Amino acid sequence: MYDAEGSHDGVPCPTCGSEATISWHFAEGFVELDCRTCGYRSDAEEIAALERESGELLAGDDPPEAPLPKRPLRA
Ligand SMILES: [Zn+2]
Repeated sequence: MYDAEGSHDGVPCPTCGSEATISWHFAEGFVELDCRTCGYRSDAEEIAALERESGELLAGDDPPEAPLPKRPLRA
């Protein structure tokens, strides 16, 4: 759904403090964090918020609580 490249920038997870995180650098120009230790994803909340904002228009597409598909890893 997004074009992003993941990199191990060592950014501490805001939830568990682990540095086993992947920073996703999106072509759109923003960065999201994905924690491999606790599963925290900074974009999950934003995507949920976006879905809430556009929920009226996109209702019936995907359940907001459904697990997000893994992004393709590009080395
Ligand atoms: Zn974490």
